[in-house]
Amino acid sequence: MRALVVLVLLCGVARADDTADRDLIMAAAPTCTAGRAHCFGIRLHVPRAEDGTRLVDPAWFAAQLALANRLFEPIDASFQLEEVVGLDAAAARIDDREERTSLAQYIRRPVIDVFLTGYLVDIDKPETFAYGVTWHTKRGKLLIVSTMGRTLTLAHELGHLFGLPHSKYPESIMNKAPRDVPPPEERRFADPEIVKMRATMKRLLRDKVLAKVRARPAGS
Ligand SMILES: [Zn+2]
Repeated sequence: MRALVVLVLLCGVARADDTADRDLIMAAAPTCTAGRAHCFGIRLHVPRAEDGTRLVDPAWFAAQLALANRLFEPIDASFQLEEVVGLDAAAARIDDREERTSLAQYIRRPVIDVFLTGYLVDIDKPETFAYGVTWHTKRGKLLIVSTMGRTLTLAHELGHLFGLPHSKYPESIMNKAPRDVPPPEERRFADPEIVKMRATMKRLLRDKVLAKVRARPAGS
């Protein structure tokens, strides 16, 4: 009987910690930038930790979102978290096409679904990993971001969502070639890419793939 009580208590604690982690991610993340014409919502899916460790550092995700919000200024858009939801712990590693595609069941338009994972196998080079991917499914595009990613990974994947392929512009975050100039902190979307993203945003809004959400005040 005592063992049962302890077990029930432990389960309760594990679940509470999980919720607290998601609350911390939500609280640390910036909201839409005041004054921008377009505020888009993100639903963040976070795998539950099995061993009590935390997969996602709230400050790490907040930095990803803050950079995305800075880089989307030229199209008058920014993003905020609408919800942080738990995913099965198995999603902490995504190995192949099937595992990527299985996440499509959680897509709920018109919010952008972003899936965090710990290790994302690069399916073109399965012995290595990818920082992130925008994965096309029958239900729509889903964004997967690895916690091994760089600060600009989320902004890069959002660039794909807004219609951009990889590019060769030295200044662009869509250019994957290693280079020193310009330094990473000066990279952005190239001017022709901004033109294309603006047109794609219009289409996504018209087709109701995306819809604007109400910008929340910072810290709420
Ligand atoms: Zn890419």
